[in-house]
This record gives sequence, C-alpha cells and structure tokens, in this order.
Amino acid sequence: MNPFDLSGKIALVTGANTGLGQAIAAALAQAGADVALAGRSNMAETQAAVEAAGRRALPIKADLSSLEPVERIVAETVAWGGRLDILVNNAGIIRRADAIDFTEADWDAVMDVNLKAAFFLSQAAARRMIPQGGGKIVNIASLLSFQGGIRIPSYTASKSGLAGLTRLLACEWAGKGVNVNAIAPGYFVTNNTQALIADKARHDAILARIPAGHWGRPQEIGGAAVFLSSAAADYVHGVVLPVDGGWLAR
Ligand code: NAD
Repeated sequence: MNPFDLSGKIALVTGANTGLGQAIAAALAQAGADVALAGRSNMAETQAAVEAAGRRALPIKADLSSLEPVERIVAETVAWGGRLDILVNNAGIIRRADAIDFTEADWDAVMDVNLKAAFFLSQAAARRMIPQGGGKIVNIASLLSFQGGIRIPSYTASKSGLAGLTRLLACEWAGKGVNVNAIAPGYFVTNNTQALIADKARHDAILARIPAGHWGRPQEIGGAAVFLSSAAADYVHGVVLPVDGGWLAR
C-alpha cells in the first residue's frame, strides 16, 4: 500500500484554470484522483492535464465572489463522482494599494473569495464528507498568513483569517474523520504575482531572501497538496505548511 496513492478518490479544486490550482489539480490526478475543476474561467488546459494523467475531469463554471454557486459545485461533483474526498480551496485574488487609500470595494472583493467562499465551501464539503466517513480539506493560505506584507491589507487579513479558520475547522472535524490543513506557498511565478515580477527591484529583493535561490514554480506545490490529501496525512490536523523555498526559515 502506497499511503500517498489517491486512486479512486474524488477531488474538487477551485480556481484550477491556471497557476497553483492547475498544478495542484494535475498533481492530484497524477496521484490517482479524478478531479472536478471549479472556477470562473475556461478549464480546458487543466482538463487536458488531468486527462493526460489518465484520470477524469469535470469542469464546473462558478464565480466564487458570491456564495450562490457553493451548494451547486459540491452537488455537481458528488453527482459526477458519487462522493467527495478532497476539497482544495485555491481560488483567490489580491488587490494592491496603500492601506491609507484602501477602499471598501477592495476589502470586500478579496475577503469574499479568499475567506468567505472558502469557509462555506468547506462547510458544504464537510456535510458530505462526515456522513461518508471522512475527507481532506486543503486551504491555500500564504506567507501573509504569518507575515504582514505591505499594500495588501485585505489579502493579509484574508490569508491570516484562513490560517485561523484552518485550525478551528480542524478542531471541530478532526474527530469526525475530516482533516483540515493549509499550504502556505512562498513566492511563485503565477498571475497573482505578475505585478511583483514586473517590478524588477521587488522581484530581485524577494529572490535574494529565498534560500532555495529561485521563485517557486507551480509544479513545486503539487507534492504538498498530494500529501495533505492522502492517507499519509491521516493524523495531520490544523497545520499551515509553508512551501516557500525556505523563506520563513530565513
Ligand atoms: P492565479 O491568479 O493564477 O490563480 C487564481 C485562481 O483563482 C484563478 O484560477 C482564478 O480564476 C481563480 N479565481 C479568482 N477569483 C475567482 C472567483 N471569483 N471565482 C472563481 N474563481 C476565482 O494565481 P495563483 O498564484 O495560482 O493563486 C492561487 C492561490 O494561491 C490563491 O489563493 C493565492 O492567493 C495563493 N497564493 C499564491 C502565491 C503566489 O506566489 N503565486 C503565494 C501565496 C498564495
């Protein structure tokens, strides 16, 4: 028995059309899971990656800036897969402005996707997972779950909140067979970090602090997601696992 094997598992990844969500969906498929892909954009590329691994993919069109699609996402996944074993709350956005100028709209938009949708999707998933005997929930947190950052107040609040929520849900559901954990990605090359990468001084300053010597590549997140989604993590509850090239160790 390989404890990292996800054969026969049904996974649901939000925001899976690009970046880290796409890489996580592909990694779960390579480990054996069939993967539902929920998001507001076209999932064709990710669907192809899942199918290239020999697994099935289900694209689900859903805008998580409101709670409207939450029940439907879980219901469609269960109707397709017969169950729900793994939820990865990956969809997320960021808005950049000085705290002194930050608007209510930029506060609400980020909190709604990064924190509110993640909580209510976790609730909807756990309502399926608990009766079926268990499951795994993996929240995509951030270094801003540990640090303050600058010019991203709602992002830092949402990701710090997500870390707290990960611990609360772990406390409530660990005894019911549901593992709730988080991954804190370091600085990865994705759409989310385009503004930082375009600013050469910021890019190089960040790079200089990364002990691994390079910005994260999306495929470098997959192993942690497979681990936390697998039986290998059955006794792991409420952790926020940095995958950051050593950034926090510095
Ligand atoms: P990305 O912008 O490429 O991906 C974000 C994903 O979320 C996209 O698929 C997007 O369509 C989806 N999304 C955004 N708003 C949505 C909505 N309203 N409804 C449905 N889907 C929505 O960036 P990424 O870096 O791949 O980000 C993925 C996650 O990783 C985010 O939660 C982000 O905060 C987190 N993260 C990224 C980094 C990094 O360095 N790239 C670091 C720490 C955390």
